[in-house]
Amino acid sequence: MSKPTLATVWLDGCSGCHMSFLDIDERLLDLAAQADLIYSPLVDRKDFPDEVDITLVEGAVSSEDDLNKIRKVRAHTRILVSLGDCAITSNVPGMRNPFGVKSVLDRAYVENVTVPHTLPSKVIPVLLEHARPIHEVVPVDVFLPGCPPSADLIFQTVADLLSGREPHPGIKPRFGA
Ligand code: SF4
Repeated sequence: MSKPTLATVWLDGCSGCHMSFLDIDERLLDLAAQADLIYSPLVDRKDFPDEVDITLVEGAVSSEDDLNKIRKVRAHTRILVSLGDCAITSNVPGMRNPFGVKSVLDRAYVENVTVPHTLPSKVIPVLLEHARPIHEVVPVDVFLPGCPPSADLIFQTVADLLSGREPHPGIKPRFGA
């Protein structure tokens, strides 16, 4: 029988949640014995698969690219997990929300540079007016709080989900970096 499938996705986050996932250390081998990681920044695969059992998503939805990606992820994922405070509240990416896109881009690309520059029109994804938590855009099944969530919390939650159990409530998340 084939193993359940696992994916991780990186939207607008600092990668700290993925680093915490890697901090599972040798227990990654336990997870690898129970599931196949078929899509991730850690895996060389470009397109999101047609069917994934569990997808952990780091980061807020901040750009049109993020929006398209999370819609596709939701459509092809059985259990979608918001991984970390940026995914759950928009957290750090959301700090730009009160200022508006234009003033943020001006600050980054015009006011704070020593060499004259213009706003980028290629390659950089088009920003949404606000960075938004994932559950404001698509339904989320499990929330894993923390900045980042601890490796223990990530491991226990994924192990519980793979075993068909309710995620373990006994491990306390840590808030704020
Ligand atoms: S929740 Fe914290 S660690 Fe995770 S992506 Fe956001 S800022 Fe980084």
